[in-house]
Amino acid sequence: MGQVLNGKMVAQAVKDEVAAMVGSLDYQPGLATVLVGDDPASHSYVKGKRRDAEEVGINSIHHEVDASVTQEELIELVETLNADDSVDGILVQLPLPGDLDGEVTVETIDPAKDVDGLHPFSLGKLMLGRPGLRPCTPSGVLRILDHYGIETAGARAVIVGRSFLVGRPLAMMLSERGADSTVSVAHSRTEDLPSVTREADILIAAAGSPGLIGAEHVRPGATVIDVGVNRTDAGLVGDVDFDAVVDIAGAITPVPGGVGPMTRAMLLVNTLRAAKARRAAP
Ligand code: NAD
Repeated sequence: MGQVLNGKMVAQAVKDEVAAMVGSLDYQPGLATVLVGDDPASHSYVKGKRRDAEEVGINSIHHEVDASVTQEELIELVETLNADDSVDGILVQLPLPGDLDGEVTVETIDPAKDVDGLHPFSLGKLMLGRPGLRPCTPSGVLRILDHYGIETAGARAVIVGRSFLVGRPLAMMLSERGADSTVSVAHSRTEDLPSVTREADILIAAAGSPGLIGAEHVRPGATVIDVGVNRTDAGLVGDVDFDAVVDIAGAITPVPGGVGPMTRAMLLVNTLRAAKARRAAP
């Protein structure tokens, strides 16, 4: 049976590190969360992020806005947070309800406070291979691989999914100097997916399709990282058929308790980095 990679435990280790570093600062970093509307999943995500922040000593500044807010009012709120010196990171929970434009809203965030790493400026820095705030989920994937000593250099990585949130930035990060994987990105138009994914030493599923990755997709001994979070009648499941794959994989992340907690922990890392960088800036 493959080793089960414990995201909850690694995330706790990351949080402990952040808490120790925050404790050594002579100021308190602040994370502003903006939640629009009443989507239950968004509410629960933001609640978790706020709790995490408080646990590590980051000041959680929360703004809850009715779904009737106009785009202009939302932009005004983000601009207020941009100008607020006690705010180091701004997170607008996506997706936004109704006609509100998530892209336009995120583009309003001061890139120095873009702790989600999804502003075009942050993604541009990633593309250029320059330091910057990286998206949380791909960062969490790299961190869990690193924690367990899974070698990325020279490894063949296959990512299933090409979203701007996970697949594409993760492809860039795994192929960056330092990580040095050889990366393929599969997607909904990929033909013969199993033959592509069987090439992988490290297989990352980020498709949002429950149980998409089965035994036939996995080369024996491969590391399988399941980013998928799918709400089904059977509860929360990943993109990987865990029971079918666990005996073939060398290592595998579960859902829940794998990448999810890592994503949350990396938001705290980014908030701390943003706080330090902003104060170090001339
Ligand atoms: P998305 O819908 O934006 O993108 C999905 C991608 O998967 C697309 O590029 C699509 O081409 C590809 N795809 C879909 N079905 C496929 C198939 N049958 N074969 C091959 N490729 C296929 O989704 P997203 O925002 O990238 O999220 C992906 C999954 O990751 C979702 O389940 C989401 O809930 C989850 N997620 C988890 C975390 C976390 O912290 N664990 C964070 C973000 C997203």
